[in-house]
Amino acid sequence: MMSFIRQHISVKLFISYLVVITVGVIVLATSAELAVPGAFNRHIAVMGSMMDSMMGSDVSMMADLYQSFRSAVSEALLIATASAAGIAVIVSLLVSRQVVAPVREMLKASHRIAEGNYGERVAINGSQAPADMDELGRLAISFNRMAASLEDTERVRRQLIADVTHELRTPLTTIQGYMEGLIDGVLPAEEGTYLSVYHEAERLKRLVNDLQELSRVEAGAYALNLQPVPVSTLITPVTQRMQPQFDEKGVNFELDLPENLPQVAADVDRIQQVVVNLLGNALQYTPSGGSVRLSVQPTEQGVKFHIRDTGIGIPKEHLPYIFTRFYRVDKSRSRAGGGSGIGLTISRHIIEAHGGELAVSSEGAGMGSDFWFTLLAA
Ligand code: ADP
Repeated sequence: MMSFIRQHISVKLFISYLVVITVGVIVLATSAELAVPGAFNRHIAVMGSMMDSMMGSDVSMMADLYQSFRSAVSEALLIATASAAGIAVIVSLLVSRQVVAPVREMLKASHRIAEGNYGERVAINGSQAPADMDELGRLAISFNRMAASLEDTERVRRQLIADVTHELRTPLTTIQGYMEGLIDGVLPAEEGTYLSVYHEAERLKRLVNDLQELSRVEAGAYALNLQPVPVSTLITPVTQRMQPQFDEKGVNFELDLPENLPQVAADVDRIQQVVVNLLGNALQYTPSGGSVRLSVQPTEQGVKFHIRDTGIGIPKEHLPYIFTRFYRVDKSRSRAGGGSGIGLTISRHIIEAHGGELAVSSEGAGMGSDFWFTLLAA
């Protein structure tokens, strides 16, 4: 019995209503009991004096009259109390059910979500504005929000597994193809063939490293070593290292690094990793004869870096997805360049962890791209 009560809010609500009703009835009965003699004396006294004059003073008759009056009042009270209590019980039963219904619905929905139906939501009646809702309405809204975020996480997880499988399968299939060719004697057992196998294995290794880095960055499982550093420390070593690659491809590289920039709060290795990624992309997606320009300007809060190229650009419809993991505008072109579509995702995480912003704009295919990011002043 006790556990039944403990397990049901509706029963608890009902019992609380019953307590209120019982207290009400007791107060009503007690106050009536206390009020009756006074009321009798006040109202019947006038009649008593009339009767005295008609029949002479008869104490026993007065007592009978008082007794009958009491019985009449008690009977009326009893009937009124019984019908009021009956109706109150019915109403409280209905109200308890009504109050508990949304909680029951949420309970059912949570069971269905636990079984893997992540699309499950609870219905929200009436106004959706939290200001117009009671606690249960607001609970339903946060329940739905939690369900949506679970659904999203599940979708990302499934997509991640599908993407990783796909990314791993391509180089593995290629390696297998080369090996079969070698075994069957279709491919010559020479350096070129082995190099091709080696390149595919390299790509696999890069992909696995990128994935490891991505999971670390996404889980926030790395410590940022934030220090006040001059902007040139973040850029110059990278541009010096990459200049030969620009020269080799015939892409012009310009650096616009004004003096008097404020120092920024940065983890040098991480920000250099971002600059390498952005400059590497600019170089990869800019044909020879084009140019890439890295410029830095002070802002109110710190510094803004622009990496502009005159390369293939990014069509407008792809811009919103460019920072999503594994997203590549032209899959074959990016893959041929060794790209896994993870670099920008990692870069954005790193910049956001620094309190900055990383974004891109492009006028469209063939019009070049402009990637920019901000860092806060130290
Ligand atoms: P990837 O390793 O494939 O380059 P990223 O995450 O660095 O992965 O980039 C994702 C995609 O964004 C690329 O595949 C490419 O389609 C597009 N992209 C990135 N940078 C540029 C750029 N400078 N110009 C044109 N497209 C770019």
